[in-house]
Amino acid sequence: MVIPLAKKEEDFGEWYIETCDKAQLCDKRYPIKGMNVWTPYGWRIMRDIDAAIRREMERTEHDEVCFPLLIPETEFKKEKDHIKGFDEEVYWVTHAGLNPLDVRLVLRPTSETAMYPMFSLWVRSHADLPLKTFQIVNTFRYETKQTRAFMRVREIHFFESHTCHEDKADAERQIAEDVDIVDAICKEICIPYSLLIRTDWDKFPGAVYTVGIDTVMPNGRTLQIGSAHYYGTNFSKPYEIAYETEEGVHAYAHQTTLGMTERLLGAVIGVHADDEGLVLPPAIAPVQIVIVPIFKKDNEDRVMDFCRTLEDVLKKNGIRAKLDDSDARPGAKFFEWEVKGVPLRFEVGGRDIDNGVVSFARRDNGEKGTISSDSVVEGARMMFKVIAKDMLAKAAAKQEGYIDDLDTMEGLESIPEGRMCRFGWCGNPECGHTFEDKYDIKILGTPYCPVKWSGRCIVCGKDGAKPVIAARTM
Ligand code: ZN
Repeated sequence: MVIPLAKKEEDFGEWYIETCDKAQLCDKRYPIKGMNVWTPYGWRIMRDIDAAIRREMERTEHDEVCFPLLIPETEFKKEKDHIKGFDEEVYWVTHAGLNPLDVRLVLRPTSETAMYPMFSLWVRSHADLPLKTFQIVNTFRYETKQTRAFMRVREIHFFESHTCHEDKADAERQIAEDVDIVDAICKEICIPYSLLIRTDWDKFPGAVYTVGIDTVMPNGRTLQIGSAHYYGTNFSKPYEIAYETEEGVHAYAHQTTLGMTERLLGAVIGVHADDEGLVLPPAIAPVQIVIVPIFKKDNEDRVMDFCRTLEDVLKKNGIRAKLDDSDARPGAKFFEWEVKGVPLRFEVGGRDIDNGVVSFARRDNGEKGTISSDSVVEGARMMFKVIAKDMLAKAAAKQEGYIDDLDTMEGLESIPEGRMCRFGWCGNPECGHTFEDKYDIKILGTPYCPVKWSGRCIVCGKDGAKPVIAARTM
């Protein structure tokens, strides 16, 4: 048995590492730093998250594609800002066998430069637009900061959608649809988030603007779990993604992307797990209900028969149930499945069977009770909904509590560790940099969704400022 070394509230960093290890989500012993092995349990959760993403992609009529991992240097270097942004982060393939390559190949850090030469062949006329594609693949970035499982790795499990549109208006409609997609996925994984338009100096290399999707960790630092970008024609011009309009005019496509990574899983661990172990949202739990039989010598057969039937009924109705019929004692079983974060535990003893009920315990808040064994499927489904709603509400309330509103910089020495702040900013980069430099904290951006706000720039005092959020990041 592993004794926890750290408490979540006291040492988040250590606690996070410990929690990932205890639940066996990945194996970090692979001999390349930052490239971890997905173990069966961790991979299963990630696949359930991917399934939620694929459902949303299908709903919004994006087609799944799968592009090669290797990108020729000649294609990679076509968009100047993009390559500048990734220059120090990419891995190169320089040889084929013993022969040096004429054109070096890059391991994709993201797939713009792999996809867009092909998009230029696929997009010919306005009838080909919008083009909506996505893929879920691994990408590679040479991360120089300290690596951390699911949060900062060098081989990244990556979802990316790439779209082409006739004009800016249609591309921005896509960004709005992306917001719906993000909302649906974050509801399934019970993660509260904010959408902030990044500052110009922090946007994605090559983008016109970037909408960052952030959540907050229990140490008050934000974790970017995804981002949506409007590219305008910044990529379509160098890559010649052009089409003939209805009037026969040659025009460049307007493009967008939406990206999310395994950080979604990192966020679930960081936000919801506790000192006992994982706490998984029902939608992505590999085991949604564990059934633990509680029997004495004289009723073992009866209890086990009932439990087997119960598991069968739940499974036939699409619920991921598991009967723990191992020889371990009930207490040891409770402990094991709590570490794994199973949302709901059913306990079945002789008296429960007599009373026509199943006893349950919720992982998220410890609540216990009974549900009628006649309507166990409906009861379980209803409880999943309640659990998901409660998990999201609890996390959202906690995250709002990290933010302090600032009216003035006067008398303020620093932003305390673990706190975020909201204040007015005129939009002038000079004021933004002044704020970031003084407090060593990052401006995450202005709200993507319009908010009511009136105020002055906290730095220069100019009227008509926009609200911005600033925080330290993971
Ligand atoms: Zn200002």
